[in-house]
Parts: sequence; structure tokens; C-alpha cells
Amino acid sequence: MKRYSAFAIAREAARYHTGWGRAWGKPKPKTHYDVIIVGAGGHGLATAYYLGKNFGIRNVAILEKGWLGGGNTGRNTTIIRSNYLQDPSAALYEKARSLYEGLSQDLNYNVMFSPRGVMMLAQTEHELRGYQRTAHANRLQGIDTEMISPREVKRLCPIMNIDGPRYPVLGALWQARAGTARHDAVAWGYARACSDMGMDILQGCEVTAVRQTGGKVTGVETSLGEISCNKLGIVVAGHSGVLAEKAGFRLPLESVSLQALVSEPIKPCMDVVVMANTVHGYMSQSDKGEMVIGGGTDGYINYTQRGSFQHIEETVRALVETFPMISRLKMLRQWGGIVDVTGDRSPILSKTPLEGCFINCGWGTGGFKAIPGSGWGFAELMAKGHSPLTAEFGLDRFREGRFIDESVAAGVAH
Ligand SMILES: Cc1cc2nc3c(=O)[nH]c(=O)nc-3n(C[C@H](O)[C@H](O)[C@H](O)COP(=O)(O)OP(=O)(O)OC[C@H]3O[C@@H](n4cnc5c(N)ncnc54)[C@H](O)[C@@H]3O)c2cc1C
Repeated sequence: MKRYSAFAIAREAARYHTGWGRAWGKPKPKTHYDVIIVGAGGHGLATAYYLGKNFGIRNVAILEKGWLGGGNTGRNTTIIRSNYLQDPSAALYEKARSLYEGLSQDLNYNVMFSPRGVMMLAQTEHELRGYQRTAHANRLQGIDTEMISPREVKRLCPIMNIDGPRYPVLGALWQARAGTARHDAVAWGYARACSDMGMDILQGCEVTAVRQTGGKVTGVETSLGEISCNKLGIVVAGHSGVLAEKAGFRLPLESVSLQALVSEPIKPCMDVVVMANTVHGYMSQSDKGEMVIGGGTDGYINYTQRGSFQHIEETVRALVETFPMISRLKMLRQWGGIVDVTGDRSPILSKTPLEGCFINCGWGTGGFKAIPGSGWGFAELMAKGHSPLTAEFGLDRFREGRFIDESVAAGVAH
């Protein structure tokens, strides 16, 4: 694979860009792989990448029923932060955030990580106390967050109305090294690096059944035929329950639609990410100038990738209170993704009752930020049977009542 560099760009410019190869291959499926990952979203691709990079396991296939990055990874609003409340979550999300800082160099692919700062507004006394608690917890965890005053909020984001009619801004939890990255680029960067290591990314390849003998996984049936494997990783976000059923076990989660929308592009007016959980909306400005707006999940289980009209209205109405200027903007596009939500709002990275089969899911509304850390830990779990990063996130926590309750840190939440 050609390295991307200033020199390569100059060389290709001189020969009319005829020398660039495909970013990833278009292989035919083999009959057997050491490891099969189902789902070429960010988490599946990152898992494959770290299996190859950290453990030298390269006879790997990543099977994707649609196109790579076409699930939630290509549909999210790209917020990256690590200011979670509980210690295991803070460790996992901070590992991911710190990997994001060097990801472009590591993958030789510009993922456009932009540590522009994320603020979570406190707009009720209750929320203020909650965020103060999180700020204290983060300090003990060594995560760099702080509470800031309404004045500081206004200084960092002048377009905000902090005296809102219903919910004045009382302060905010601020993580200066949090931010955003380009979601497609994260998927594409990992895909290119996996392909470069000789792994097969099979798009248009739907897994229709999981094969097993004597309680151990032996392979999968797919729309491209049967493929055998020694280990199987299921990383399919909103379809986790469907795949788990095919493998013969059940998961404690629900799949619902979460939606987002973008406005027409405007001149730069906001260089931070703002989350307003009380009014239930959040906003940032993309590099193209669009205001990227997200809201809450649908209130009923569904598998549509659309979202409901009612939610758009609720989200925009709420944000207009905090950002009056957006009332003048035309909204250009709206879309939805199917997110998999657990009861404690924490992910599942776990062995399963089927030997050799592992599951990575339950990221709900906030898994984009975790992609590098999740891939790192899940690869270790699949390769060695144990990872300190994922140890607390096993399925057994639901049986034993050891919840990692992040409903405060992940109420909306991204
Ligand atoms: C509107 C929206 C906004 C969001 N905002 C944020 C945010 O700001 N910050 C944040 O951190 N997170 C956010 N998220 C959550 C985040 O996008 C997800 O947690 C994350 O992308 C999940 O990645 P994944 O790789 O697990 O899943 P996906 O990217 O969904 O990948 C799973 C893949 O599995 C494939 N698949 C499913 N079934 C099969 C099958 N049978 N065979 C083969 N392949 C299959 C799917 O086609 C899909 O491509 C948001 C999500 C949405 C929908």
C-alpha cells in the first residue's frame, strides 16, 4: 500500500494522480479464517486492526452486509470525550481519546481529529450537582475536566443565550482535550490499514447463521457462502440481538433509532461542541460549515434508519432556546441509526455462552468516541481471553448485578 505523504502527493500531482491504488482490496472469501469479525463499522475494523498490529493475527476477515462504515459509524455526530463517571468507563474512553490523538499518524490516514473542547451545560441545579460530582470523579481518575462558570461558557461560545427563558446556563462540565473526528475517515483509515496487513474486508456479505459443534463456534453461513473460523467476533451495534439469537443466546439490550440533522453551511461561528442534556440537544459546526445537531432516541424499539419527525421538532425547538440564531437556518438533511442500548448505558465487551464467540455491543448513543479503545481491548480479549480494559464490561455483570451505571454521563448522550 502506498504511504500518504506530502512527497507522494507531489509525485502524484506530477503524473496526474494516476498512481494511487485502491485504499482497500476487493477479495473473494476464503473457506477458512483464524478470526471472523461480523460488522465493518468502526469497532469491528478497529478490533481487526489491533488483532493484527498488537497480536500478529492477520488471517482475519471482516464481513459486512452493506458497505463499510455504512452503519452508525457513518451516521453519528462524532463527539469524542472521556468524562464518564465510573472508573472502568473513564479508563476505556480515555484510552480511546488518547489513541485518537495519534490515530492519523498511526494509520497514515487523516482522521481529522479536532480537540476543540466539549462542554456539557448544566441548566438545572440537579444537573449542576451531577456534573460537579463527575468533575471530582474525573480528577481522581486523572482525566482533565473542570467545571466552568456561565461567563466562561459565554466566552467560549458567544452565540449561546445563557439567560434562556426556561433553562438558564448555570455552568458547564468542560473537557478541553475532547472534540470531534471525521467519522468516515476513521472507518476508512482502519479499513485501509487492515487491508494493508492482508486482511479481507468482504462487503455485501451478510451473516445469516452461526455454525457450532459441541458448544464451540465453527464458522458462519453468509450470503456469499459458508466460511469457517476458529474465533468469531460479533460487532454489529443495532443488530446485536439479531446476531446473538443466531448464535443461540440473548442479550440484555434494546435497539432504538437515534437521529441527527445538519443545517445549510454557514461561516464559522462556533469552535466548541455544546451538549445541552436538559433541553435534549447538542450542536457543533462541521469543517464544511454545517451545524451538526443531534437529539434523543426514539421512545420505542425499532430497526428503522430514519427516526421520527416528532424528534426533529423537539430537538430543534429545544436548541433554539439556547442558540436563537439557528431559528434562521434551513435544515438540509436528517437521518437515523439503530443504536443498541443496555440498562446501565455501558457497553458489553465479552465472551459469550458459545465458546470462541465474542461480542462487542451496547455502545448505545455514544460509541464513536470509544472506537480505538474498544478495538484495542476487544482484540486483546479475543487474542488472550482477558483484557484489563474490558474486564468489567462482561455479560456476567447483568447476572451478578455489577452495573456500571452511566445513565448520568450518558443520558442523551454522546
Ligand atoms: C445519529 C447518531 C448520533 C451519534 N452520535 C454520537 C456521538 O456524537 N459520539 C459518539 O461517541 N457516538 C455517537 N453515536 C453512536 C455511535 O455512532 C455508535 O456507538 C458507533 O458508531 C457504533 O459503531 P459499531 O462499529 O459498533 O457499529 P456500526 O457502525 O453500526 O457497524 C455495525 C455494522 O454491522 C453490520 N451488520 C449488521 N448485521 C450484519 C450481518 N448480519 N452481517 C454482516 N454485517 C452486519 C452493519 O451493516 C454495520 O455496518 C451516534 C449514533 C447515531 C445513530
